[in-house]
Amino acid sequence: MSLSSSSPDVVIVGAGTAGLSAAKTLKKFGYSVVVLEAAAFAGGRCITDNSTFKIPFDVGGSWLHSAKINPLARLAEKHGVCLHKENWDWTWVYSNGTLLTPPQVKEYSKYHTSMWQEANKAGAKYIDQPVEKTLPNSPWKNLVKNLIAPMLGADPDVVSSADVYQYADAEGDWLLAGGLGAFIKNLHSDIDVVINCPVSKINYSGDGVKVESSAGSINAKYVILTVSTGVLAAEHIKFNPQLPSWKLEAINLLPTGLLNKIGLEFDSSWQGAQQGQVANYLANDSDFCTINFGFYNTNLAVGFVAGRFAEQLENEGVGAATNFCLEGLKAIFGNNVTKYINRTTETAWKGNLYTLGSYSYALPGSIDARLRLSETLADRLFFAGEATMPNAQATVHGAYLSGIKVAEKIALIDG
Ligand SMILES: Cc1cc2nc3c(=O)[nH]c(=O)nc-3n(C[C@H](O)[C@H](O)[C@H](O)COP(=O)(O)OP(=O)(O)OC[C@H]3O[C@@H](n4cnc5c(N)ncnc54)[C@H](O)[C@@H]3O)c2cc1C
Repeated sequence: MSLSSSSPDVVIVGAGTAGLSAAKTLKKFGYSVVVLEAAAFAGGRCITDNSTFKIPFDVGGSWLHSAKINPLARLAEKHGVCLHKENWDWTWVYSNGTLLTPPQVKEYSKYHTSMWQEANKAGAKYIDQPVEKTLPNSPWKNLVKNLIAPMLGADPDVVSSADVYQYADAEGDWLLAGGLGAFIKNLHSDIDVVINCPVSKINYSGDGVKVESSAGSINAKYVILTVSTGVLAAEHIKFNPQLPSWKLEAINLLPTGLLNKIGLEFDSSWQGAQQGQVANYLANDSDFCTINFGFYNTNLAVGFVAGRFAEQLENEGVGAATNFCLEGLKAIFGNNVTKYINRTTETAWKGNLYTLGSYSYALPGSIDARLRLSETLADRLFFAGEATMPNAQATVHGAYLSGIKVAEKIALIDG
């Protein structure tokens, strides 16, 4: 099928979780849909790598966060997926040359809990300020500042506390044995995707829309954009008419932050850490990684680096993030530990042309930016994706829900 010969009701730009769930919902409503994806595969920021290790490795999203209220958790249960629901425990905390004692780790964990309470108190009063400003003074402040960066995808001095407060948090962070990416893929196996097909222009000046891509142009009634805010801000897609200034402002208030992952496959003879244990390693004020052991109850450990430090490591080149994790492991477990690591891999999301980062965060003072980002233009240019979801931002379930929401919007407008 050539693109120009088809004229579907809806063109969807991007086959990540949002694009796939929008396509599935629209098809259920009876709409014809064409999904255009720039990369060589569907999945976007939620994909499972089954080739590097013997164990699946989620290159992007892996946890079903807020599982108690997460619709994907309900679907995973319904499909009988093997779920790992165990909590994680900070067993080792290494800070500036010393390994904390268990009572110190307890104190640090207590501070971590209380600081979220403080941040929420500020949020409840609609005080929008950098998350860092909401952190109470304590000897643990710097450590916690580093620890929360992976959650935020950015350093807490640049993230809006009000935006964090808006996230609907609930009990449970679950892992899926086969990987979250694989689950999302299976869930949408009935959706056809045109891959290797970057969209470069969208004309929404007329009655319908004209979408130009590397495979030609296609006309439709509606278009849904699901690309990251990083991609939108980089203007990889041109619009006619240009996006209004309030939309551009919303995009720029919601940068795509950075979390990179380091996969470490241990030899099964290594008994240094058990499933559910976590090591936090702070080398100086801001060089930090956290390493979770026993993913899926296997010998896979996953390290995380975030924010400016992650960007610095990515810029240093392939291997820099892995080496930093190895340095942390050696400091905690002794130099011999590296002999037990069979294989490693690391991500580089900032350099990924089609995402330009990991997930969105909001700059302080951007309280309604996510709503503005989600607003439809001219009743035919629609926006979806994790960044458009004020209560489920930066997550796979947020992306999934945004796809359903945008499909419902189209059905409503279409009457
Ligand atoms: C390292 C990492 C860890 C994460 N961990 C978790 C986690 O544990 N739990 C969780 O819930 N979330 C997590 N997330 C976040 C989650 O993965 C994302 O929020 C979610 O997958 C975003 O989905 P989306 O559909 O909004 O965007 P995307 O998945 O980015 O989909 C957009 C698609 O558009 C495509 N595209 C870009 N430009 C063009 C173009 N010009 N033309 C056509 N197509 C284009 C992209 O290739 C992409 O496939 C993580 C993300 C990362 C990177």
